[in-house]
Amino acid sequence: MLICETKNSWQQFLDFMKKRTSPTEYENWLAPIKVIEEEEDKITLEVPNIFMREYLLDNYKKELSTFLPSKGIDNPSIEFVIKDEEKKAPPTSILPPNLPPKKAVNEVRLNSQYTFENFIEGPSNQFVKSAAIGVAARPGKSFNPLFIHGGVGLGKTHLLHGIGHYSLKHHKKLSVQCITTEAFINDLVNHLRNKSIAKMKKFYRSLDVLLVDDIQFLQNRMNFEEEFCNTFESLINQNKQIVIISDNPPSKLKLSERMIGRMEWGLVAHIGMPELETRVAIIHHKAAMKGFSIPNSVAFYIADHIYHNIRQLEGAINRLSAYARLMNVSISEEVAENVLQEMMEVPDRHKLTVEDILKKVAAVFEVRVSDLKGESRLKNIALARQVAMYLAKELINESLMKIASSFGGKTHSTLLHSWKKITNEIKKNDTLKRQIQMVKRNLNS
Ligand code: ADP
Ligand code: MG
Repeated sequence: MLICETKNSWQQFLDFMKKRTSPTEYENWLAPIKVIEEEEDKITLEVPNIFMREYLLDNYKKELSTFLPSKGIDNPSIEFVIKDEEKKAPPTSILPPNLPPKKAVNEVRLNSQYTFENFIEGPSNQFVKSAAIGVAARPGKSFNPLFIHGGVGLGKTHLLHGIGHYSLKHHKKLSVQCITTEAFINDLVNHLRNKSIAKMKKFYRSLDVLLVDDIQFLQNRMNFEEEFCNTFESLINQNKQIVIISDNPPSKLKLSERMIGRMEWGLVAHIGMPELETRVAIIHHKAAMKGFSIPNSVAFYIADHIYHNIRQLEGAINRLSAYARLMNVSISEEVAENVLQEMMEVPDRHKLTVEDILKKVAAVFEVRVSDLKGESRLKNIALARQVAMYLAKELINESLMKIASSFGGKTHSTLLHSWKKITNEIKKNDTLKRQIQMVKRNLNS
C-alpha cells in the first residue's frame, strides 16, 4: 500500500511532473494551480477554470493519486475550487442588468414530456443519463461541455430537454436557452441581415446554460461555425454550461479542428439502443402515459421486433392502441403482429434471394450452406433446411417450384411439407421461434 505524505505532496507532484512535461505545458497547465488546503485525506486545489481540472484529471490521474491523498487506485482525492467562483455573486446577478432573463426562459420551448422522469434507463443509457443529471444539477461545474452522440430516435433530444427542465426547475434564475443548430444559423442570418449581430452575440453570451441540438448541421458551414465557436468559447470561459447533441462523435464531424477540440474538452458520451428489457419498460411507460396498458407478452413481441429506434416503438404503440380502440378488440400478440406487420423490420420481399436465406440460416444454425442444399438427414441439418424452406416460402415472392429448385432440386411438395412443419413447430418451440427471428433480423441488417 502506498502511504501518502500529504505535506508538500503537491510540490512533490510538481517536481515529478516538471521533468516529464514540456516547459510550455508545465507553465500553462500546472504552474497556475494553487494549493488551498492540504489535509490527511484530501487536498483542495484552486484552478483558474474548469478546463484545468478536466485536463489534470484526464491526463495525470495516475501521477496525482501517487503523490496526493487518494481514495483508491487512480482516484485522487482532490477538491477543486474554480478561481473567483466564491467571489462571484450568485448566478442571478451575473446577468447583465439589461438582459431580461424572463424572456430568455420563455423562449425555451421544451417538450413537456421530455423530462428525466420520463426517460427510462437501462444499461445502454444509464451513464449518459447520469451525466445529464449531473450537468443539470450543477450547470457549469461538472462536465463542460457535455457532448452526447448517437443514432436517430434514441432519446438525444429527450435528454437535452430533460437537462433544460431540470435546470430551470432547480435554478430558477438561470437563463437557459435550448436551440437546434438550424435555429442558431437562422438567427445568425437574420441578425446579419438586420445588422444587429452585436445584439445576438450579447444575448447568447449572457446565457447560463446553452443546449444545442443536432450540431451535425453545422458541418460545411464555415462562416457559421466560426461564430458558433466564438460563442462557445465565450460561454465556457465564464463556466457557463454547454450541452451539445450530435449524430456522430466530435472526431467524425466535418468541422474545424478548433471546434472538434473544444467539443472534446468536456465529456463525450454515447447513447445507444436500449436492450430488450429496457425497450419493454419504455413501451409500458409510453402506453401508461397514453392511458392504456399493453400485456407484457405483446410488449416483448414489439420490443423484440423493433430494435433500431425508440420513435418507431412509439409509433407501434400508437397504431396498436388506435386499432384496438376502433375495432374494440383487446391487444394480443396476434393483433400486434397484424397491425404492425408493415412496420416490422421484415426484409424486402423482392430483393431477397434463396441464397441470402441459406447463408443466414447456415450461420444461425451452425451448418454449411452445402448441407442445406444436400440430402443429409442429420437432425440439426434437416431442421435448418426446413427452416430455410419455411423462410423462403414466407419471404420470397416466387412460385414454390422455383424456390424448391434452389434447394438443390427439391420438389415443391417437400417445400410445402417443411413450411407446414415449421409453422406448427414455432407455436410450441420458443427456442426455434427465437432462432428464426434472429435469421430474419440478420436478413434485414
Ligand atoms: P433523437 O433526438 O435521438 O433522434 P428523441 O429524443 O427525439 O430522439 O427520442 C425519440 C422518442 O423516443 C421520443 O419520444 C422520446 O421520448 C423517446 N425515447 C427515447 N429514449 C427513451 C427512453 N430511454 N425512455 C423513454 N423514452 C425514450
Ligand atoms: Mg433529436
